[in-house]
Parts: sequence; C-alpha cells; structure tokens
Amino acid sequence: MICSYQNFSKDARFADLMKSVQYCDLCPRLYERRKVLSSANGTVESKVLFLAEAPGRFGADHTGVPLYGDRTGDNFEALLGNIGWRRKDVFITNAILCNPKQENGNNGTPTIEEVANCSAYLEMTIALVSPDVIVTLGATALNALDLLSPHGIELRHNVAKLVPWRNYRLFPLYHPGPRAMVHRSQVKQRSDFMLLAKVVHPVKGLIEQKKACAKPASSFPAEATIMQQVARVLLELGGRMTYFKMTKLMYMIDLACLEKFGHTVVSPIYLRQVEGPWPPDLNKELEAMQGHEVRRFISRKLPMVALGPSSRFKVQLEEDILEIILNVFNTYGSMSNSQIKTAVYRTEPMQNILREEDKGKQMINKAVLYKDKTAKELHVSG
Ligand code: SF4
Repeated sequence: MICSYQNFSKDARFADLMKSVQYCDLCPRLYERRKVLSSANGTVESKVLFLAEAPGRFGADHTGVPLYGDRTGDNFEALLGNIGWRRKDVFITNAILCNPKQENGNNGTPTIEEVANCSAYLEMTIALVSPDVIVTLGATALNALDLLSPHGIELRHNVAKLVPWRNYRLFPLYHPGPRAMVHRSQVKQRSDFMLLAKVVHPVKGLIEQKKACAKPASSFPAEATIMQQVARVLLELGGRMTYFKMTKLMYMIDLACLEKFGHTVVSPIYLRQVEGPWPPDLNKELEAMQGHEVRRFISRKLPMVALGPSSRFKVQLEEDILEIILNVFNTYGSMSNSQIKTAVYRTEPMQNILREEDKGKQMINKAVLYKDKTAKELHVSG
C-alpha cells in the first residue's frame, strides 16, 4: 500500500515527535531538564504558533506548560486575554525545549549551539502545526527561524508587522518577560497584540490573506526558489530518484558552488543527519511543488521524487550553476544510494564531521556546510 508520512494524523505525528524529544541529549548542560513539548503546548490544528525563547525555571520548566506559571507567563496571558484569545486555541513553543538554567540557578540565555541543536525539533513542530502565522516573541525566537531559513528580519524594524517567510507569515513581537519590558513597554506590547488580532484569527486563520493576499490554491509564487529550480532540473535530468539521493546531489552541487563562488547556492545549510548531510528546507520546498513540478511517492519503502506533470515556472538559473548541476549529475546521477553515500562521506566536510565523531563528539544536527563555511571552520577542534 502506498502511504506517506504526511497521511498520518497530526495527533499521531505529534505523539511521535514528543516521544523522540524525550530521549534527546544533544545539549550537555540542558538535557536532564524537562523537555517542554506536550499536549499542554496547545492545539496542533492552530492557525497561530507562538515561538518564545526557552522554558523559564519557575514557568514551563516547573509547570510543563509553555509561558505559564511565572511573571512572563502572567504577562503573556494578560496580553492574550486582552485581545480575547484563549490559550487552548493557539500553539506555543520555544526556540529550545529545555530550561537554560545557569550555575547560580537563574534563567540563562540559550547559546547559539543549543538553539541549533534544537532547530530540528522546531522545524518538525512548524511543519506539523503548519500555522498561517508564526508569532515570534523576542530576538532569540527570530534568530531560531533565521537558522532554519534566513529571513533578514530585525525585530526593532519589523515589530508587529506581517512579514512573509517560506510559506508562512511571521509577526515579530517583543518577549513578554519582565526584562524585555525595558525595550518595549507593556502599553506598547498591548497595542502590538491588538495589531496581531487584526491580521489573524486563532481559529479561522489569516484575515489579511483572505482579503488581500490570498492566491488561488494552484498558483505558484512569482519566482521559484533556487532549491525548487534545482530540484526540477535534477528531475528533468533523471526522471525520478530517491529523496535521499536528491539531498546528496544538492550537497555535491553546493560543495562545488562553495569552491567556485565562495558560498553555497542551493541551501544555506546542510545538517549532519544519520544518513549524511541534509538540507532542512527540501521537504517543505518539494511539498509546495507536489502534484505540479514534482510527484512524491513511496516505492519499496523508500520516499521517491519524480518529475511532476506540469511546471508552473520556468527554470532561470545562471549558466555557471546549470553547468555545476550537469557535472554533478553526470558524475553521481547514476549511482546507487549506497554509492553516492560513500562518495559524500569521502568529501572533506563530511570527513571532518566523522573525525570529530571518532573523538566522541556528538555531531548530529551540526552543520556540515553553512553558507561560506565547511564543518572544519565551524566545529573542528585542535
Ligand atoms: S534544548 Fe532541545 S536539543 Fe537541547 S537537550 Fe533539550 S530538547 Fe535536546
């Protein structure tokens, strides 16, 4: 029977995610704390996802309910209540799922590495809830999304404005914690929440989109992303391939781009996963093309990607990039999954990752490539 992960109910997928999070030990100073991801975070059917910084020691770390039980939680509930919203209608999570307690017992700020470690869970949570609007609370939340897909948004310039990001809208707000009130008074935060209520309804979804921004379901963004165009070219060359192989071909293409242009082109980041380097955005990008530019299905238990019946965009990649894609495809396109995996593992950035793992370092979810840097510049010690 043909079946895909997306066909499982959201509740079942959320149950899987909650279970896998509980075993996470990626952050040495945090992993023994409570992982705040459960049905107490809200409804996975919500149109609005609030993203804050981290569970507070008197708040979510203690209660298991995000933004609840401490002064930050009280402020948040007051702001929510002021616009007539109920906690049970929205989904609330944090950039990291464990409380970053300092040695003196106070709440700390998550490190960049901790935010990066937890980004795979954030990615999965967003994909699962698939909200119309993501409301970021504070700079750490905004930075956590930037790590998934760069958005270039600055909180002070974009506060309380609806900004497109991937297939979502972001609505950046200040954090409701007592410390953040120094930067944004309670009165201003109250009016920010009122603006939020004007653009989105927690149950019915985006108001503005329905009035002005909505596009027909079959339309495609005016410009396809580079990743979407590269996926389409690879399928035009190969007809069909495993999803696994596509991730590895993209990695090889970006490795060549890094050498030629000094930075990656297809994806800003490739994370070390059990099966090698992986561009975190690919799943989402393919989803937006499903049934048109691409067709996804399962064959012999493997997720496959094939050329779709009709493209809504023309590939407009520069010749240099097309040449790299062709070279990579000619070299690796006919390889089996295990052959291309071996070739990828022999590349220098993956060799550096493997060497660090040999030393006992945990490298899962660490960047193999990040824009103009390879694993060696990012992580290699001595
Ligand atoms: S913060 Fe996230 S990545 Fe780090 S230990 Fe907790 S669940 Fe794992």
